[in-house]
Amino acid sequence: MRVNAYAAPAAGRPLEPTTIERRDVGPDDVLIEIQYAGICHSDIHTVNGDWGPQPFPVVPGHEIVGVVAEVGSDVTTHRVGDRVGVGCMVNSCGECANCRNGDEQYCLRGMVPTYAGTDRDGSSTQGGYSTHVVVDADFVLRVPDGIDPSAAAPLLCAGITTYSPLRRWGAGPGKRVAVVGLGGLGHMAVKLAHAMGAEVTVLSQSLKKQEDGLRLGADHYFATGDPDTFAQLAGRFDLIVNTVSAPIDVDAHLSLLAVDGALVNVGAPAEPLSVNAMSLIGGRRTFAGSMIGGIGETQEMLGFCAEHGIGAEVEVIPVGQVNEAYERVLASDVRYRFVIDAATLR
Ligand code: NAP
Ligand code: ZN
Repeated sequence: MRVNAYAAPAAGRPLEPTTIERRDVGPDDVLIEIQYAGICHSDIHTVNGDWGPQPFPVVPGHEIVGVVAEVGSDVTTHRVGDRVGVGCMVNSCGECANCRNGDEQYCLRGMVPTYAGTDRDGSSTQGGYSTHVVVDADFVLRVPDGIDPSAAAPLLCAGITTYSPLRRWGAGPGKRVAVVGLGGLGHMAVKLAHAMGAEVTVLSQSLKKQEDGLRLGADHYFATGDPDTFAQLAGRFDLIVNTVSAPIDVDAHLSLLAVDGALVNVGAPAEPLSVNAMSLIGGRRTFAGSMIGGIGETQEMLGFCAEHGIGAEVEVIPVGQVNEAYERVLASDVRYRFVIDAATLR
């Protein structure tokens, strides 16, 4: 079927209306009528060419929530009318050690990203800034009724990307967790770490968003632009989750870790990050990375959010404002996730 979408025609060019082809619903597929699509900074990195050449035109969007419109003959997990979500991947081999371990995002044959990837039929995948999408049922998540659908969309990327490292590195009661950068991922990290029972500190460039940070669940808020911050917080944290979309001073942030603490990088800037070995060995510290989460873990995260009444703080926009929204995200002027109302694409 031919559907309306918004695409970047070439690297660094504004997005514009277009139409794209969605494949026929196969036996294992689900056709989703999209309601909302979040704008992730990864969409902007991709469109701007930060991560290398892309198969333009690219329809971004990997924070998708909608309603099942049709299911293939072999699909038993989803039914027409169900509220569902799709995150950053739409397929993986299902057979390698990582897939069998529930880490489909690290599929040894390469997971299929929701956009700018190559689907199993050889075509380029196109994302959620669109009215409909066809996805293999195993990569379709159930969105619990308790979460508002527009606030649920960002959970599919920003939510799972922060939930996964918080869980893996043991955020919980008695743990001091810092979140660097209060944007889309950062604000989810604050809400989730707070709900897990950790003591949460925001490290933002300035104190401009302090009131919001404390309202979202942070116990403390510091400006990284203030040199005193690093002296004052030295050796304090068990876990730091860095969500910044640009390079940070890794050594300065490592100095904030207690012995055995971990700095987990989820931010994915174009430029390399550098680290001085002394910053690690002088405290048995870990510098790690983490990419989204597996499908099972994403479903678990959605359940956790429903149980704790967690959704993203969103600004819902008509699709015609997408380029303006990109500019505001780049200027760190997002409170805290833009979400496209897909009805404005129809
Ligand atoms: P975002 O909403 O733009 O948030 C990033 C935040 O970083 C900004 O709000 C700002 O927070 C801070 N920041 C921006 N530029 C900065 C600079 N030059 N110096 C210091 N701080 C700066 O972006 P997002 O959607 O949360 O994504 C964040 C990053 O994670 C992106 O690189 C994205 O590609 C990546 N990502 C990775 C994964 C993964 O699986 N690992 C998944 C999704 C996204 P303050 O104003 O509070 O300082
Ligand atoms: Zn994303």
